[in-house]
Amino acid sequence: MERFVNWSGSVRFDAAQLRQPSSEDGVAALVRETAERGGKLRPVGSGHSSTPLAETPDTLVSLDAMSGLEAADAGAGTATVLPGTGLSDLGSALAGHDLAMENLGDVDYQTIAGAIGTGTHGTGRNLGNLSSTLVGGRLVTGTGRVVEFGEGDAIDGNGDVLRAAQLALGSLGILTALRLRVRSAFHLHRQNWMTHIDWVLDHFSELSRACRHVDFYWYPRSDLAQVRILTPPGEEPDVVPPGTLKKDESGPSYQIIPNFRDLKFDEMEYMVPLEEGLDVFRAVRERVKARHRHRVGWRVLVRTIAQDSAMLTNAPQPTMTIALLQNASLEYEEYFRDVEPIFLAGGGRPHWGKKHYRSAADLREMYPEWDDFLRLRQECDPAGVFLNDYLAELLGLRSGA
Ligand SMILES: Cc1cc2nc3c(=O)[nH]c(=O)nc-3n(C[C@H](O)[C@H](O)[C@H](O)COP(=O)(O)OP(=O)(O)OC[C@H]3O[C@@H](n4cnc5c(N)ncnc54)[C@H](O)[C@@H]3O)c2cc1C
Repeated sequence: MERFVNWSGSVRFDAAQLRQPSSEDGVAALVRETAERGGKLRPVGSGHSSTPLAETPDTLVSLDAMSGLEAADAGAGTATVLPGTGLSDLGSALAGHDLAMENLGDVDYQTIAGAIGTGTHGTGRNLGNLSSTLVGGRLVTGTGRVVEFGEGDAIDGNGDVLRAAQLALGSLGILTALRLRVRSAFHLHRQNWMTHIDWVLDHFSELSRACRHVDFYWYPRSDLAQVRILTPPGEEPDVVPPGTLKKDESGPSYQIIPNFRDLKFDEMEYMVPLEEGLDVFRAVRERVKARHRHRVGWRVLVRTIAQDSAMLTNAPQPTMTIALLQNASLEYEEYFRDVEPIFLAGGGRPHWGKKHYRSAADLREMYPEWDDFLRLRQECDPAGVFLNDYLAELLGLRSGA
């Protein structure tokens, strides 16, 4: 038995076994062996998701032994990366070739395949999520077949494997190589300011247009906000927040974008159309102040992302993301359930790796390519080797389907 506990501690289960293949052939053999005995397996990255995506009573597959850069092509602006590569290791490996990821999320503890598996994003009006940087790769499907995919490719002439693989929750197959769009290495200057939320709301649109990355944390108890502004050195905005400069540092992008997090939390995050975003945030703020301020232990995080075209993307248009963070030691469900309808009324789609309470029927309404994704998933995994109870319910499938 292998005990699994996710990062926040809110997902726990026992898998019959943990397997750590060290090669693509090893992955394919494991999938074939599992399919032949009618078993199930779930790929897992660093376990940072707070939905039970990895849960299985059978075989948990870690790709930790398949880590590192397979190839880097500065001319083409691509790098091929093994699935278990941690984002922090990826940053330094790419820097060795004078390359960098276009963007990163709030931390760099995740694996590349896990981060892409749920559409992990950072902030930046013109920057897509990490999934949008996947331009090709290799996938071991539910029959143990290795499928190479890229722009325009299709399995058996049906569907767009790349756009499905860009955000697949580990339900399509096991990614064994990821070809990413990368850029030349660059430096960033970060300034974190503590100021009042009203100033931030008045200036956010201007700042987010002027700067490569801007986001803010709102602290419900004090009404203060921390604005984080990251620009190439020398391109700082003219407007300066009135308040305290909490952090001021410069360096390579992969060291400056991610933050250090040791306080454990649970999170709900919704993606809403950018144009409506600040109004949705204002409605969330009203609700938190009216009903939850006394028991919300932490903050609300607001970011922006560019649109992308993954089948299950939650950023089908320029997008604002709004996240409720609650300390892992405190109750979160009543808070999240109470605020979720505000996100939905604002046209929101949930983050796939964070808490939400949407059913398959709700999700099908939100995603125009839902049925196309499911058809492709079925072709890749006809026996449902990659399904667990959570995914079967989320996707509206029977677990044995
Ligand atoms: C402290 C913290 C900070 C975070 N910051 C952000 C943020 O800034 N932005 C954001 O969008 N999210 C953020 N998240 C959420 C996090 O990025 C996602 O949940 C991400 O998917 C976790 O990656 P992981 O490596 O832990 O993968 P896991 O959570 O272990 O797995 C995620 C998914 O990927 C699948 N998977 C893993 N490996 C493979 C593979 N080889 N092939 C196919 N599928 C695979 C799994 O089956 C699962 O469905 C944060 C989470 C935490 C705890």
